[in-house]
Amino acid sequence: LDHRFDHRLVLTTYAQTARTAHGTLTELDQLSGDGDFGDNLREGLDQVETALRERPDEAAFAVAANVFLDEVGGTSGPLIGLLFQEIARALSATDDARDGWRAGVTEGLAAIQRVGEAEPGDRTMVDALVPARDALAAGEGFAATARAALSGARATAAVRARRGRAAYVGDRALGAPDPGAMGVALLFWSLAEVAE
Ligand code: ADP
Ligand code: MG
Ligand code: MG
Repeated sequence: LDHRFDHRLVLTTYAQTARTAHGTLTELDQLSGDGDFGDNLREGLDQVETALRERPDEAAFAVAANVFLDEVGGTSGPLIGLLFQEIARALSATDDARDGWRAGVTEGLAAIQRVGEAEPGDRTMVDALVPARDALAAGEGFAATARAALSGARATAAVRARRGRAAYVGDRALGAPDPGAMGVALLFWSLAEVAE
């Protein structure tokens, strides 16, 4: 396992994954929200790829944080920006990528909850991040962390939303997972693909 892999490649892999998943993420947000989550994530990560080419000497996740905090719309844009910002901060403080991700996801989740006030089980991206944080804190590798994030995201299919737009649609989205949780789980899949 190489702990010193290129984090640019994590983000370009994530961008490619978001392009592939765009249709599914759009359908999920059509069921539970306003249908723009696939666009927000794909276009945000496309802008990250452009910004990474323009700013080759800056830390990859710091570049991604700037793009998502400043340019990406929707509720998810600034929240994912906060996650990227804390991952960037934590990665810059250590040579061990696993340590960096453990601290970054812990702090990023805390920031997202401070701003968005979602609790686990509210049917948001928090439901992917809590199991990912717990897996990393337990010393799991990136592949196991990705599986934990995805199963947390899938489990949102069984709950009615209490936060975000999905809170207004009642039972319509029951049976389909939360788009933001699935979108965040794809970050951990991209990480696992590059790092393990
Ligand atoms: P919008 O509802 O503004 O169109 P997006 O479509 O970009 O936002 O993102 C929707 C996703 O944002 C949801 O699927 C959910 O995962 C996430 N989300 C919504 N509200 C919150 C919140 N308060 N805390 C954490 N995540 C949230
Ligand atoms: Mg939306
Ligand atoms: Mg919207």
